[in-house]
Amino acid sequence: MGYLHPALPGAAVLPFPGRAPYGRLPLSPPHLAGGEIEAVRATLESGWLAPAGPAPAAFEAAIGAATGFAATLATTSGTAALHLAYRVLGVAPGDEVWAPTLTFVATVAPAVQMGAVPRFLDVNPTGWTLDPDLLAAELALAARRGRLPRVVVPVDLYGQCCDLDAILGACDRWGVPVLCDSAAAMGAAQRGGQHAGRGARLAVYSFNGNKIVTAGGGGALCSDDAALIARARHLAGQAKEPAAHYQHETTGYTYGLSSLLAAVGLAQLPLLEARVARRRAIFAHYAQALADLPGLDFIPEPAWGRATRWLSVVLVDPAAFGADREALRRALDQQGIESRPAWKPLHLQPAFRGAPRAGGAVAARLFERGLCLPSGSGMTQSDQDWVIDAVHRHARG
Ligand SMILES: *Cc1c(COP(=O)(O)O)cnc(C)c1O
Repeated sequence: MGYLHPALPGAAVLPFPGRAPYGRLPLSPPHLAGGEIEAVRATLESGWLAPAGPAPAAFEAAIGAATGFAATLATTSGTAALHLAYRVLGVAPGDEVWAPTLTFVATVAPAVQMGAVPRFLDVNPTGWTLDPDLLAAELALAARRGRLPRVVVPVDLYGQCCDLDAILGACDRWGVPVLCDSAAAMGAAQRGGQHAGRGARLAVYSFNGNKIVTAGGGGALCSDDAALIARARHLAGQAKEPAAHYQHETTGYTYGLSSLLAAVGLAQLPLLEARVARRRAIFAHYAQALADLPGLDFIPEPAWGRATRWLSVVLVDPAAFGADREALRRALDQQGIESRPAWKPLHLQPAFRGAPRAGGAVAARLFERGLCLPSGSGMTQSDQDWVIDAVHRHARG
């Protein structure tokens, strides 16, 4: 079906996704559900454009139903939700915020902007997510130093869950709250089938255009503690106190999600399960069709969860494959296929030079060898076979 949009006249091909034979194949473009145009039209006709009214509230209810959290705030982005989380957790200048080093910069950026000190911990090879044993050991050391982190922020990487049970166990021992960055993990399940992020004090989701379902930009902050979300909602609306005039005890933000984008998100969310199934099928096809090539290994799915396979990530062993990750990326690029290196670890980013860390060698190796292949759920079988052919053509022999 590709990117054909049934709601557009003549089922026109949307401009963004170059279909492989005719243009560029993007990494993870938005995949329309079909109901977005009607949803936006209905919202416009209702007169509700502000981040108030029925659409954001309905979107929040749908996110709550999908994730199992008791309270949800829809925000302008996942990064805004992270910022609000750091505010309601009371992060102050000089506080330590601990996160895995293998993640997107947004995991810690708002905390750093608030004056916090990020501390980067390595990931483990079993799931590429925060190593709970390392975390437990580091927390014990920090307690001995009398300097526990203000918050620990594990990440559900590439649509697969961190070992949240083990991480919560390590943090509960010292009373350290956990904020789960599940921005890329809508639809992922952890042990016992709970949704990604569930169990953490706060969890963040993203509905950016490249995520598995999108609002065309947007995010959510969730918790089972309704008071935390009420506080976040207050800050998201410029911290207006209940008074006829403008009264402020603190300063806030304009972080509430617009009704139009909430309507888009509402049209997308019912397709979450189907999108997960499609992304998993894409991953399985890559793994099967590239299995004959030496020197390629795929991101492992940890035993405790069900990944969405948001992005299909492959590790390239240069000696066995006959080319390194960057050579393969450039070869694909020349064929019009977008691929991206795995996250560059944050401890290697100039923006965080000198930040304290524990380990990082596992993450550095994953960056050196990891390549994200096109994984959009709207990709056709022939799009994907084109990628597979291109990888084969570039392999040794
Ligand atoms: C996408 C993403 C974010 C940021 O979400 P936005 O909605 O783009 O601000 C944060 N963390 C991770 C791990 C992400 O993948």
